[in-house]
Amino acid sequence: MKIVEFDAKGQRVEVDSGSISSHGGSSSLAPRPARYDRAPEAAPRRKRKSSGIELHMFQTGTLKTKLKYIKMNQGDGDFEIPVPWFLIKHPAGNVVIDGGNAIEAAIDKRGHWGAVVDAYDPVMNIADNCVDQCKMVGVSPESVRYVLQSHLHLDHTGAIGHFPRAQIFVQRAEYEYAFNPHWFSAGAYIRADFDRPGLNWKFLGGEYTDNYDLFGDGTIRMIFTPGHAPGHQSFLITLPNTGPVLLTIDAAYTQDHWDNKALPGLVVSSADAADSVAKLHKIANDTGAMVVTGHDPDNWKTFLKAPYDFYD
Ligand SMILES: [Zn+2]
Repeated sequence: MKIVEFDAKGQRVEVDSGSISSHGGSSSLAPRPARYDRAPEAAPRRKRKSSGIELHMFQTGTLKTKLKYIKMNQGDGDFEIPVPWFLIKHPAGNVVIDGGNAIEAAIDKRGHWGAVVDAYDPVMNIADNCVDQCKMVGVSPESVRYVLQSHLHLDHTGAIGHFPRAQIFVQRAEYEYAFNPHWFSAGAYIRADFDRPGLNWKFLGGEYTDNYDLFGDGTIRMIFTPGHAPGHQSFLITLPNTGPVLLTIDAAYTQDHWDNKALPGLVVSSADAADSVAKLHKIANDTGAMVVTGHDPDNWKTFLKAPYDFYD
């Protein structure tokens, strides 16, 4: 079987499916429409009227890791997690949340990530980068007005520097920590991803800017949720038809984490991480939001996936 791939220059090439060793599409976690088994470009998208505000759920492949790195102290078993990221189409400008892994994770993962690939091994095609995935749903890099960073770990920095007109939102505490992390989380910060010239940063100030409303219309609110990282934030997206959607990101990696049955495998403050889950529970209860956890392989399968479908 021939599969369309992309080489290091982004050119389309046809390759034999048997020759692909770490193809993202071979994972059971790769996004697939239920009834179609074709390349995404050829797959039929759901045609329907949109409210004009859309939430698209993408992923840049998966990470092959160990259970203990996701759920603290829960053993050495193999565990594969999706690497989600999100695009919001809004009349006032398009918004990318996180952007998943940087494209370099697909080109030279060890060269770019270093020894951390022994703990978190990215399974990603070059075509899975967030810029090319935006194009699949008609969003040009120039049309992205904001990039919102939940935090600056390596599986969330794929958008930085790739959207030339975008302002990049991050918590100031996260930005500062990323340049001077503790030894135990240093591997999760790839300085080349966020320490680049010409970036237009906007810094948020923890609880002093909490619930920051990006467009002033309630569509996108940023919620300060430290613990996993010092300046982590989650997002409450409110859509005209779907209603509220709570993107916990890594404030709750998995359903166990959300249910207070596991702490994250990587954490700077367990107390803050538990408080942040409690804070998000209150928001979910108050709003009735659909909850999207950060990296849960089972939960992730249940959502409508881009480029085939979206929430509006
Ligand atoms: Zn993550």
